[in-house]
Amino acid sequence: MIERTKILLEENEMPTQWYNIVADLPEPPPPALHPGTHQPATAEDFKPLFPMALVEQEVSTERYIDIPGDVLDVYRLWRPSPLFRARRLEKHLDTPAKIFYKYEGVSPAGSHKPNTAVPQAWYNAQEGVRKLTTETGAGQWGSSLAFACAQFGLECEIWQVAASYLAKPHRRTMMETWGGRVHPSPSEVTEFGRKLLAENPDHPGSLGIAISEAVSEAIEDETVRYALGSVLNHVLLHQTIIGEEALLQLAKVGETPDVLVGCTGGGSNFGGLAFPFLREKLAGKMNPVIRCVEPAACPTLTKGEYRYDFGDTAGLTPLMKMHTLGHGFVPEPIHAGGLRYHGMAPLVSHVYELGLVEAIALPQLECFEGAIKFARSEGIVPAPEPTHAIAAAIREALACKESGEDKIILTALCGHGHLDLASYDRYLRGEMRDLELSDDVIKAAMLDVPEIA
Ligand SMILES: *Cc1c(COP(=O)(O)O)cnc(C)c1O
Repeated sequence: MIERTKILLEENEMPTQWYNIVADLPEPPPPALHPGTHQPATAEDFKPLFPMALVEQEVSTERYIDIPGDVLDVYRLWRPSPLFRARRLEKHLDTPAKIFYKYEGVSPAGSHKPNTAVPQAWYNAQEGVRKLTTETGAGQWGSSLAFACAQFGLECEIWQVAASYLAKPHRRTMMETWGGRVHPSPSEVTEFGRKLLAENPDHPGSLGIAISEAVSEAIEDETVRYALGSVLNHVLLHQTIIGEEALLQLAKVGETPDVLVGCTGGGSNFGGLAFPFLREKLAGKMNPVIRCVEPAACPTLTKGEYRYDFGDTAGLTPLMKMHTLGHGFVPEPIHAGGLRYHGMAPLVSHVYELGLVEAIALPQLECFEGAIKFARSEGIVPAPEPTHAIAAAIREALACKESGEDKIILTALCGHGHLDLASYDRYLRGEMRDLELSDDVIKAAMLDVPEIA
């Protein structure tokens, strides 16, 4: 087999279907529930929020769903994305392991998020929607949706978590460049935002609060819908293009992974990479260990409970069965803004409960230390979120060095960090700290989670 560092697919080799893991799971995932009646949510319950095509995908049990031609056209601006073998990092670590990373930073917004922003905007445009509202934490989702809306002539209104609105002015500029309208959250625009600002004018905000604001604006207007950048089944579905491409690329060099690691905030880049490999594993064609990596300051899988909770702080969304730290949980302002979400995708939570995937939590200093090694060897400056995946891959590669095993490690480098250099600055100046999360804080936030019989 030819040894290659950069494994590319031709445009005509790009997969034309998304993969729905629900079709292959040994048990179906528990349904979402109506927030008031606690009965399984119906299509009607989702209708004020999402277009019908996406509601259908949310509850679909079809194994494969065709990617619309218009969406493939936009995907081709940057897809297929490259798969790299991290030879220089391997050499630096002096490991017998082979490390592969699927690089999603080549998209216009610099992360994997446009993989779902583009189809979401397209389906909304098809159903005559005028405007999409959304939240954004670090700004990656907001910029991806603003880009996608610009492709199909939709307006885009974005609530950005106040802490990152202040810390990341360039992400806002990016959203505005693509035509998005951006508010800091909590904002004066919504009733919920005004209430929180009255209590604390310097409220740092959270993803859960920003979701409440964006949702409340969408349900008030027939021509407006809401879009979510992670967590939901249809989002993970769209992201499976990552894993489907990676499977084809690894096949080109004759490799199958022994270990797959991915960072998990809401679970979409992880699910997108891992689910096609999990399909192969369930079919007995390969047997990789599949591991979620989350921040120690927001340890949803490793410390949260698996139970029904709201997706947002105000309790407007359907109840989802997921690993949660409580919908009122406000994580410490760690640098990986995209990993600061109180819940985990119901599908990722479900496969974790089934024992099909593992999870670990890493402190941010180890992650940035790994990112520096990665940048100095591989060249790419990672976004703060995938530094968790990189640090986990490095742990695995160093364990191989100890044991002498030549494992194949696969991860997703789901975004670049060019707009996150303030985080690197803090690390390089020695100002970054690991933030300990006490069990008392978790307990307190869990008190508000509804009891479902
Ligand atoms: C949003 C984001 C994340 C976290 O979201 P997931 O749904 O867990 O993937 C991770 N990395 C990057 C680069 C992001 O933009």
